[in-house]
Amino acid sequence: MATMARIAAGQFFLAAPVTTEPPNPVPTTPGAVPSTSAQRADVIAQLAAHRIFDVRMARRAGIPVHAATPQGVLAAAPGVAEFAVDLVRGAGLGEVALVTEVVRTDESGADSAGDLAARHGLEIVSSDLIVAERLRTWPLAIRGPEIALPTEQGVLLATGYRDSHSGAEHLVLRGPNTNPAGVPAVHVHQHCPAGDVFGALTCSCRAQLDTALAEMATSGTGITVYLRDTAARLRHPEPRLDERRAHLVASMLQDLHVRRVQLRGDDEQQRAALRDRDIAC
Ligand SMILES: [Zn+2]
Repeated sequence: MATMARIAAGQFFLAAPVTTEPPNPVPTTPGAVPSTSAQRADVIAQLAAHRIFDVRMARRAGIPVHAATPQGVLAAAPGVAEFAVDLVRGAGLGEVALVTEVVRTDESGADSAGDLAARHGLEIVSSDLIVAERLRTWPLAIRGPEIALPTEQGVLLATGYRDSHSGAEHLVLRGPNTNPAGVPAVHVHQHCPAGDVFGALTCSCRAQLDTALAEMATSGTGITVYLRDTAARLRHPEPRLDERRAHLVASMLQDLHVRRVQLRGDDEQQRAALRDRDIAC
């Protein structure tokens, strides 16, 4: 267990993923239900010492357990539970966190999180840093089935990925001879219904996609990442990827063991995200 502190009135609770099931029940000692904070803290210390998390035991002891959503800090509106669970996961300490509030010791308000950290040699990690670290290093999509996809230009390998943030299904298309040890050209395409489906001439999405696919067919190598959106909007997407989607692309290429690419376009955010995952570009 690790702790996460915030400054308020001295409450504490456990944060755990929604999916955490209680393991074998811990035998409870008969007696009164813990009534003071010190007694509840003692129960938590016992659970931590035995590396046991039992939601029923915690609740019997009057310790609130707050569920963290599976998307963690990448959820639409992450809360304290999500930040706490992702902090301990990122630190390799399991996935149950104790969240405490820092109590000021006197009216001067001298005790801050910074004072507490300095006194006990603790490091303060901001919520922004937890999000950045997760974007940079964690898998952001789950690999699904791979199929051979015959197209007008030739047969491509298509691998589906489920976005662990939005649930959208993305596709990574590869030329049949793409070798992970090579330097494939990479084109990132964002779903644009107006251009992709209806061939609208108001944007160049379709033309760029066709060019990339034709080159993949001619050379037999290359990668096109097709990012889909859960929203069915007709508007042309922003040409630049936002930070999360840039990291998402890097995560999928990393999953396919791609180590070096020739990235089309001049998206510096995308280059930085690739380099974060040790993909040369
Ligand atoms: Zn478009």
